[in-house]
Amino acid sequence: MRKSVLIVTLAFLSSYVLLGQELPECGSTIVQESELEDNTLFQRRLFNLESRLIVGRTNGMELRDGEICVIPVVVHVLHVGENIGNGSNISDAQVQSALVALNEDFRKIEGTNGDGNGADVGIEFCLALRDPDGNSTNGIIRSDASSIPSYLDEGIGVGQGSGADEVTVKSFSVWPKDDYLNIWIVNEIEDNDGGSGIQGFAYFPFNSVKDGVTLLHNSFGTIGNLKNYTDMNRTTSHEVGHFLGLYHTFQNSTDCDETNCETQGDRVCDTPVTVINSSCSSPACSGTQQIENYMDYTGQTCKNMFTEGQKVRMRFTLFEERGSLLESLGCVPVSENDASVSSVNYPTGSLCSGNIFPEVTITNYGGQDLTSLEIQHSVDNGAIESFDWSGNLAPGASELVTLPLVSVGAEPIYFMQTRLLQMEELTNTQVMMLPSQDFL
Ligand SMILES: [Zn+2]
Repeated sequence: MRKSVLIVTLAFLSSYVLLGQELPECGSTIVQESELEDNTLFQRRLFNLESRLIVGRTNGMELRDGEICVIPVVVHVLHVGENIGNGSNISDAQVQSALVALNEDFRKIEGTNGDGNGADVGIEFCLALRDPDGNSTNGIIRSDASSIPSYLDEGIGVGQGSGADEVTVKSFSVWPKDDYLNIWIVNEIEDNDGGSGIQGFAYFPFNSVKDGVTLLHNSFGTIGNLKNYTDMNRTTSHEVGHFLGLYHTFQNSTDCDETNCETQGDRVCDTPVTVINSSCSSPACSGTQQIENYMDYTGQTCKNMFTEGQKVRMRFTLFEERGSLLESLGCVPVSENDASVSSVNYPTGSLCSGNIFPEVTITNYGGQDLTSLEIQHSVDNGAIESFDWSGNLAPGASELVTLPLVSVGAEPIYFMQTRLLQMEELTNTQVMMLPSQDFL
């Protein structure tokens, strides 16, 4: 047994040297190598998973084919004080666009999401509707993390010398890993100014506050504050692939040869052996290549698939190592009829006078479609204005609502309070009170 463990360890270290020459676009190998060196429990858990996979391939494994698995997600937006929608404080709409795109990549169903290439992994992701305390939530938690040492200027670190301490950053806002996939949205990674270099990183299952997915704010989603080479959400799909036990397709490969596809490379037999691919048109290895795989380093426009073998690894990992996520109540609404203003988008900051059209985001926290509601708001504790909204919001969905013109007087302090009336079982009269929004 001891000999086998050593073999696994050495194999990982070889890839570390390969990737250590420069910071790659995904930091998962770096952080996992570091963990493997320091954490024997992580090492043994990973080795055990690999052993069970090999046994399972021979003796059969329960993959619950046809069952759609749903993983609750909480997105921690760790911004640096910007208003919602600016810089790293990405909008609700951007977060939601990421979940939509993520689900499309994991549910390849011909006719519904374009190309129809690759495996339908049968795993979906939902923004949490219930927080760890049992309260309603839209699954998006915003925190100004600029007080964490080095975070404001360098973002989160992955142990390469710059950036804030990873555990400190993640401990700032984290939900129980057994019930939620934690996704941390950060301003920078390793002082990269949100530009090139590491775009995200993730871990195989292990017992640590680090467990989860970290992504640059401008590599997450398909609308909003995004770079033109990371605006298709492929980074998220790639990192969630790691979270569910996938290696890079070029894992441990220094040449284009492989003798045992179950124990070498990415340990998946229907991904051709390869070294890092960066071009969509010129594969690094000859023969039948797969530059389309989400777990390679090619540009986002040619990535469009997981394979059936990767699907097996992910479902096996989910059932064996992350099964508690499937028992979570995170995406079970607290009640059938429940909605609220989840954020005030405008005005923000200082505002002392003028005529404005306030903007708020409403979220359906309930289990039924929301079709109508009444928003009440007032200025300076003045007369309450009512606005009737109607539409169709699915459970968990949000929408930006522009309220009618509000005239703000010449007083030096502007004050707005937003209340929301929401459908009750039969009478549409349940009242929800929001905290007052005070704009000094
Ligand atoms: Zn990666």
